[in-house]
Amino acid sequence: MEDKGWKVAVYPGSFDPVTNGHLDIIRRAAKVFDKLIVAVLNNTSKNPLFTLEERLELLRQATADLPNVEIDGFRDLLISYMKQKNAHLVVRGLRAVSDFEYELQLALNNRHLSEDIETFFMPSTPQYSFLSSSIVKEIARFHGPVSDLVPPEVERALTRKFSGG
Ligand code: ADP
Repeated sequence: MEDKGWKVAVYPGSFDPVTNGHLDIIRRAAKVFDKLIVAVLNNTSKNPLFTLEERLELLRQATADLPNVEIDGFRDLLISYMKQKNAHLVVRGLRAVSDFEYELQLALNNRHLSEDIETFFMPSTPQYSFLSSSIVKEIARFHGPVSDLVPPEVERALTRKFSGG
């Protein structure tokens, strides 16, 4: 049988920075697929707090114990990146119904651009359904506690950013 790379999944996002909610999806998806590529979008229009290199490094540290997870960056359209990787599966997390409309729009557009792409939605674990990178940055900016929300290396990186380092 032709190997179409169906077991390689790509989890794309900004990850600015990675949170425990993202990590929950990564850990669960890594059990389902043979290989999971976490693809960090170098999105210049979003004006990220962390550079692409910083976001990649934080993700690498947080997933160091997961041998079938690869961390990579991309700039192009997701489907071009996926073609390059010979991947056909996209994983996205759903926190609440409010995520659904946007996520469905993305999935349908990707499907329209390439009929070879399938999107899999994973519901977030309830304890993380309120969690987003933006909320974490907002709390950290005012020196609030984020230790329950992000891994320790991200907490340290946030402290450095917001103490002018
Ligand atoms: P984007 O800028 O593409 O929305 P994010 O880094 O914010 O990138 O999110 C990447 C993916 O992770 C999206 O599918 C998003 O819905 C999902 N996600 C974000 N936070 C959580 C969370 N707390 N629980 C589950 N999924 C999440």
